[in-house]
Order: sequence, then C-alpha cells, then structure tokens
Amino acid sequence: MRATAMPLVVLALIIASERPAIAQGGRATQPSASSDSTPDPIKIAVARLDLEKYKATIKGLTQFGDRRQGTKRNRDAVDWIEAQLKSYGCTNTERITYDYQLPPPRDSTGRGRGAGRGGVPRTGPGSAQGGGTPRGIRARTGVNNDSLAQPDARLRALDREPTSPGQRQEVYCTKVGTTHPDEMYIVSGHMDGIGWGEAANDDGSGTALVMELARVFSSPDIQTERSIRFALWNNEETGTNGSRAYVAQRQALQGKEEPAGSGKYPEPKWLGMIQHDMMMFDHGMPHPDGTLSPEQRPEADVNIEFQVTSKFAADAEKLAWALATANEKYATDYPASVGQHMTNTDSGPFMDVVPAISLRENERGAQIGNGWDPHWHQPTDLYATFTDKDFRLGLNAAQTTLAGVARLTGMSIKK
Ligand SMILES: [Zn+2]
Repeated sequence: MRATAMPLVVLALIIASERPAIAQGGRATQPSASSDSTPDPIKIAVARLDLEKYKATIKGLTQFGDRRQGTKRNRDAVDWIEAQLKSYGCTNTERITYDYQLPPPRDSTGRGRGAGRGGVPRTGPGSAQGGGTPRGIRARTGVNNDSLAQPDARLRALDREPTSPGQRQEVYCTKVGTTHPDEMYIVSGHMDGIGWGEAANDDGSGTALVMELARVFSSPDIQTERSIRFALWNNEETGTNGSRAYVAQRQALQGKEEPAGSGKYPEPKWLGMIQHDMMMFDHGMPHPDGTLSPEQRPEADVNIEFQVTSKFAADAEKLAWALATANEKYATDYPASVGQHMTNTDSGPFMDVVPAISLRENERGAQIGNGWDPHWHQPTDLYATFTDKDFRLGLNAAQTTLAGVARLTGMSIKK
C-alpha cells in the first residue's frame, strides 16, 4: 500500500524497458497492424488459472486441519500435496528429509524460541519487524494455543494431536527447462500451520497458489527455457526450519550436472526465489475499536516485498518489479505494490544466497504485524471464513507470479 524508496532513475529504466511490451499487449491498446496475430502465450496460460480450482485446492488442504508440523495430519498433507502434484503432471516429485527438535524455551532476554526469524531484527524502538514503520491504529496479534477457542468439535478433534520432535519431510517438483535446465526459479509457499483452525489463509492460500502454478506449467503443451521448482516448505511456523534445511542441503549442489554428460541437473542454479504466504485478506487497517471491515476492500492489493538489508537487495528489487509489471498486464482485479521490508517467511533463508521476494495480502511487518488480519494464527482461519472477494485476491497473486515467472523463464505454448 505504500510508495517505495525505489530510486527514480531505476524506475525510469524499468518503465522504459517495459514500455514496448505494454504498448503491444496492454489491455487498453488495440494490436497495431505491424504486430503479428500470434496470441500472447502468457495470457493463455494465465487464463488457465481458475477461481473455483484455486478454492478447491485450498479446501483440499483444509481437510488436514491446521497441518501442524510434527503430526500425522501434517505428514498426511505432505502425501496429499505430492499426489496432487503428480496428478497435475509434475511427476518428478522429491522430498527433503531433516530433523526438527524443539528449541530451548526463551531466556530472560527474550531470545530463544522464534527469535531472529528470517534473519531480520527490528531496527529500533517502535519499528516493525523487517524494518518498516508502523502507522495508524494497531490491533492485538498473537498465536492461539487454546483448543477450547475452537468451537467446532470436529475440527478440535482433527487438530488435537500435539507436535513431536523428530524427522520431517517436505515435497517439491520441477518443470525442467528446455534450453537452460541448469538454471531455475523457486516458487514456494509453506504447507504447515498453527492456531487450532484450518490454516486456510496461512498458508493454505499460498500453498494452493504454488500447486495451481505447478498444474498450469505442467500442462504438456507448455514449455519453458529455464526450470521452475515448486516447493512446499514444512516447519515455517517454527522459524522457517524447512526452507533452512533445503538451503543447507542443496545450496552447494547448484548447477552440477549429475551424472556427468547426462544433461540432468538435480539442483539447477538458483536465479530467484518467490515465496507466497497469506494471500487472501486485505480488509484494511483495524477500526479504532480493533474490529476489521467485514468485506475485502475494493482497493486491496498484492504486496510484493524484498528485504533492503539483504545481500541481493538490488536484484531482489528488480525481481519484485518484474512481478509488479506482470501484475499490471495480466492480473484481472487487484494491483500489486512493492515494498522493501520482506520478513518472517521462507524467503528469509534464501535472501543472502539468491534474489528473494515474498508475495502477501499485506506487508508483513507494518500491516499484518499491526493486526490487519484478525484470523492470523487463530481458530477462525477457516475455509468458510473467506468470501470469493478474498479468494480472488489470492487468485490475482497467482496470476501475477505465473505471468512474471513465465516471462522470466521464456515460456511458450506448443501449437
Ligand atoms: Zn505463514
């Protein structure tokens, strides 16, 4: 929702470089006589996203309740996601296996469990996580740990099993590039949740978005020059442990052909990482009494954030604007805004290794952190809580990433 600190000269360069494409294919412009009549493949691919399919995928995830890490319902959800990916044609699924032990409880300094998540500290008194400045009315936030706060007995029973330490798994699959199979973009969300609800928004909405993109890109008639990996992290809610495990296990394997001469690259070089977390609820700032507007606000937007303190900030900012530009051309209902305070999600472990961004319903630090989403980690994060206007914001984020990644990876559609 806020203007960014992007230098004007950079903005001017981006606008200049994008102008020809917008002029040729922009919504308001008739194709000129000189442009050929070939339909825009990105437009065709974006049209294969569908509100009802997106909703059905979110609904499918909620059958496993809050999908808390370290439970059977979480493992069952990983199995279900993998089966869905295979059914879409993303058949080369693989799993990361790692161990998760509960961290020590907080010490008297407040450090310990959950501290330093995302690697970005608060920068000063009164500042938001990730470095932004909180504005306006603030409502309470927190994590519900009370089973009795869930009035639905069926869901209370589904979410009952407590987490246990030990082995964890998370799944990914890959669209292999035709000419550059050794390079890829990572498109991701986190499949675990907390709070004694259904984790429909956090992060069923982001997980379903990634799964829907895997479905569209896996269509047999679609090819990309570069590879795309669709990853559904586990253990985000404990401090991005699943994405950290991926970086720890896979970073050194980047770009290596294995076996030599095979043309196969088990870990293509990372060109960028795009995380999706809480995609649906942008009802604005809390009212003075702490309540929120019941309806999605018409001026809702998709917030694309990079982290200005990260090692790859300049390239992450470029990646953010590439998606914002894709949103302008291809998203049907809601615009995108770019901000510089990405924090508290699985792009954190990547941001000093590769350009990394996150997409959300609001800015994580100064907006969600100020209580703009009353369902966050609450028993009300249910499929039934959200209306089509909410689901449609998530769909617009899907359109944004699909179009942006299609352009970045050189997507085409076979005739
Ligand atoms: Zn989340």
